[in-house]
Amino acid sequence: MNLQRVEAALKDLKAPAFRLEQLRQAVFRQSRDSYEDISVWPESLRRSLSQAAPLLSANLAELRVSGDGRAHKALLRLSDGKLVETVLLRPSPTRWTTCISSQVGCAIGCTFCATGLMGLSRNLTPEEITDQVLFWRQYMKRESLPGNLDNVVYMGMGEPFACYEQTAASLRVLMDQKQFAIGARHISVSTSGLAPQIERFAEDFPQVNLALSLHAAEDGLRARLVPVNRAFPLGRLAQALKVYLSKTNRKVFVEYVLLEGENDGPSHAEALIGYFKGIGPCERLHVNLIVFNPTETPHRPSLESQARWFQQRLRKAGLPATLRQNLGRDIRGACGQLLVSRNQA
Ligand code: SAH
Ligand code: SF4
Repeated sequence: MNLQRVEAALKDLKAPAFRLEQLRQAVFRQSRDSYEDISVWPESLRRSLSQAAPLLSANLAELRVSGDGRAHKALLRLSDGKLVETVLLRPSPTRWTTCISSQVGCAIGCTFCATGLMGLSRNLTPEEITDQVLFWRQYMKRESLPGNLDNVVYMGMGEPFACYEQTAASLRVLMDQKQFAIGARHISVSTSGLAPQIERFAEDFPQVNLALSLHAAEDGLRARLVPVNRAFPLGRLAQALKVYLSKTNRKVFVEYVLLEGENDGPSHAEALIGYFKGIGPCERLHVNLIVFNPTETPHRPSLESQARWFQQRLRKAGLPATLRQNLGRDIRGACGQLLVSRNQA
């Protein structure tokens, strides 16, 4: 939903100001999914608005729920027919998180990521980004899923900093008290390392969490895995991280996908430790070691014993490190598995 468009439509219809407030209540507090359900509105107003400003900019094309019920993946069809995936996760019985997309596909082309294989089709609009949260809130209500959805991670399809303006506009809507009212600390934006935008983000959104997908602390290897490293090598990235740490009082969450025989050995752990020592105090960093989720790429996940060893090595050096097993693998809804195949698109 685009609130400005709704406001303009209500104005054109010369509706009194309280109609907008009623709509906000219905959409953002009660998660109503159709104008028909706004019973305090006259029938004619509901009809006019549903034509002028649809509640959702996308339609559900396909839905999958994991066997344990903790991951739900939706394929959404946008107004131009393009498709995008979005995921709802239940990391603990009382918490729900949505993993949202910022682009249809992605131009960065990380070698281990399913979305990277698609290439970039287009950026999402701010409305298409925030409508994924609206979609899941409506879904939770329809399915009577208990609890609230108030955690959002920009870790779906796309590179949010490659469409910085759209991402920034969507963050403002999510945090707006009159719209989603989601706290900045409940939102995380993940980037593959676009250094100038990291610096801008520190200035614009010092309270929103930043996650950096690092995956290697040696330029040759990182450039191979995450090709954007050629434009912003590790030295430039370190500079941006220092700016971020000095301008905010937040931690940086570092994502590191463990790939067997590629980035999970002792030399890789030492390079990572050395890199961080040159950036800032260890307590301002948190390394999330991610177990690789299989995709149509030649990589293999690290052995569990190796992943545990890697984690312990970082911890011994004073770096907080956790090992993350992703939810939703059985529905291809885990990190890096989002893909719209050619026959779907
Ligand atoms: N483009 C942004 C955000 C989306 S990707 C970024 O790269 O940060 C979200 C996370 O999933 C990133 O940390 C990414 O490195 C990770 N990821 C990608 N492919 C993966 C895979 N096959 N298994 C596990 N994690 C993966
Ligand atoms: Fe794009 Fe992130 Fe996938 Fe890399 S990991 S291809 S940046 S979505």
